[in-house]
Amino acid sequence: MTILDGKKVSNDIKDEITEQVTKMKARGERVPHLAAIIVGNDGASLTYVGSKVRACERVGFESTLVKMSSTTSEVELLDKIKELNNNSQIDGYIVQLPLPDQIDTQKVLLAVNPDKDVDGFHPTNFGKMALDMTTFIPATPFGILELLDRYGVETSGKHTVVIGRSHIVGRPMSILMGRKGFPGNSTVTLTHSHTKNITQITSQADIIISALGVPNFLKAEMVKDDVVIIDVGITRVADDTKEKGYRITGDVDFVNVSKKASYITPVPGGVGPMTIAMLLKNTLLACERHRKK
Ligand code: NAP
Repeated sequence: MTILDGKKVSNDIKDEITEQVTKMKARGERVPHLAAIIVGNDGASLTYVGSKVRACERVGFESTLVKMSSTTSEVELLDKIKELNNNSQIDGYIVQLPLPDQIDTQKVLLAVNPDKDVDGFHPTNFGKMALDMTTFIPATPFGILELLDRYGVETSGKHTVVIGRSHIVGRPMSILMGRKGFPGNSTVTLTHSHTKNITQITSQADIIISALGVPNFLKAEMVKDDVVIIDVGITRVADDTKEKGYRITGDVDFVNVSKKASYITPVPGGVGPMTIAMLLKNTLLACERHRKK
């Protein structure tokens, strides 16, 4: 069994990006600039945004954090988005989700300039992804592809089962694993909360990508020998033995499933760190594309 070490691979990717940024500086070019908008004080969201800003510093990018209060109106947020769309110094930006109830998330995501949409959530970019066109692939699916690629995990002709159909992970993952090329060429089954007899489906899978957010959902008796496991789940579970009072748990019963798996991602240290690395990669791509325009 091989651990798909997202911590290591993400550090490799960050080193590669740092090298590119150093070359850009040496050529006298502007370095990539990522902005993040956060609305409200949700603890997990603040943690995620904080790690994105730190990751920018690590690779030599510029970053801007836009903090807006939890009472921000939709109009105020849309004005801020317009400002970022028009700011030629910013290559890409993200709007940290979830947004407060008074704001229509769809409206906000549609307002983001697709050329700066480094999260790859805009319908234009999602459509391009589905049509195999050059675009921004959402960071988490992009990170999973990169892990499979760098470890040389065979995907062609395999049966990939994706659990969860969210717009940010499950749905794009199902499209990407079924597209032509590597990683891809899989026969894909997309499952969700209405799927009947899920064990019957998962036990036939060569590759399982689990993104549902239910701790220890995927058990050893649900998978076959030599399965490849990608655990996207990140759930905070109360744990008094930890300083923070919680621990991070994936969707997979790692201890038992890893005994049957050929490759498996740990949680933490698997898909999570890859997501941030690929957000940086998308920002670098955005910067290069803007320069060519
Ligand atoms: P989500 O929006 O929370 O949706 C969960 C999906 O799981 C839905 O499609 C739901 O089906 C499905 N589901 C729920 N219970 C199920 C069951 N018993 N059997 C089969 N499917 C079931 O999904 P998400 O935003 O992708 O998040 C999923 C997990 O990934 C969360 O733990 C999240 O924190 C984590 N995550 C991690 C990263 C990372 O960087 N590692 C990035 C994003 C998300 P329905 O559609 O029918 O409701």
